[in-house]
Amino acid sequence: MQCDKCGGEAVMHAAYSGMHLCAEHFCRSVDSRVRKRIRDDALLPESASPDDPQTWLIGLSGGKDSVVLTHILDETFAADPRVELVALTIHEGIEGYRDASLEACRELTTDLDIEHAVVNYADEYGVEMDNVAEDDPLGMAPCAYCGVFRRDALSAYADEYGADKLLTGHNLDDEAQTAMMNLLSGDIKQVAKHFDASLGSFEDRAVDGDPFVPRAKPLRDIPEKEVALYAHLKELPSHMAECPHASEAYRGEIQDHLHELEDEHPGTRHSIMSGYEELARLAAEAYRDDGDGPRGECDRCGAPTDNEVCRKCELVDAVDGVAD
Ligand code: SF4
Ligand code: ZN
Repeated sequence: MQCDKCGGEAVMHAAYSGMHLCAEHFCRSVDSRVRKRIRDDALLPESASPDDPQTWLIGLSGGKDSVVLTHILDETFAADPRVELVALTIHEGIEGYRDASLEACRELTTDLDIEHAVVNYADEYGVEMDNVAEDDPLGMAPCAYCGVFRRDALSAYADEYGADKLLTGHNLDDEAQTAMMNLLSGDIKQVAKHFDASLGSFEDRAVDGDPFVPRAKPLRDIPEKEVALYAHLKELPSHMAECPHASEAYRGEIQDHLHELEDEHPGTRHSIMSGYEELARLAAEAYRDDGDGPRGECDRCGAPTDNEVCRKCELVDAVDGVAD
């Protein structure tokens, strides 16, 4: 097969667009789609200047998605004094898994000369995920604890660095899976949160236990396979292993269904997302008109919540002592 742009040897075929592309034109196409997303979702305010730069905090796990995101952000903004990039890696305390990916993060940030911070669950919450997974004091999946701690750590560091944006590497497949899971659960409040958290219009709002920092997901138009191919072609240092506590079986099922649908009907993931975004916008507006949203503050940590104590502080209490 030949590249539709230059006639060179094609390395990929995107059924949803009908395009065949060579390595160079494929990478350029990923770059330009991601940059368009950055312009749309993380627009620089007029006030940004070399004297008053924007700080963008990147959630860098060391997996292919966040590595590709960091690489493209660096290529785009390394020479732009209006933007300062800081990468943050979260160490959950998962033996043999996070240590290897932390290595990939260090290699990349050293290479690109980007400031790199690491936050440990052990320091922040007094636990390691390995112990939580073993003891499981609330009888939940490990990811249910881990996800709450991760959101809290990202928000806390975004605050500490005075970050103007929090950027994460979610790709099109991740986003379409989450959209389907939320729709199938019937939880429309969760759908509305997608609008607040990802599309970032109601900047005065916050979700439970999650002080609001505007988010951006610049890879959200790029299918997972394309992110992996890009990382491979650019020889980026990424870490592929899966977390030993990964337990979201339901997400895996949805992923299989979406792959089948995409094979039969190319473009399904893109159309799910465009419908979902519109629905999220309508739902967020409806809840806002109802005056819905967290009304109080957590007694312990001050995070916005409807309850006396926020979810993160509840979980910190629940896991207290699991390592002893
Ligand atoms: Fe945490 Fe679950 Fe991700 Fe493992 S798979 S790092 S337990 S959220
Ligand atoms: Zn709290």
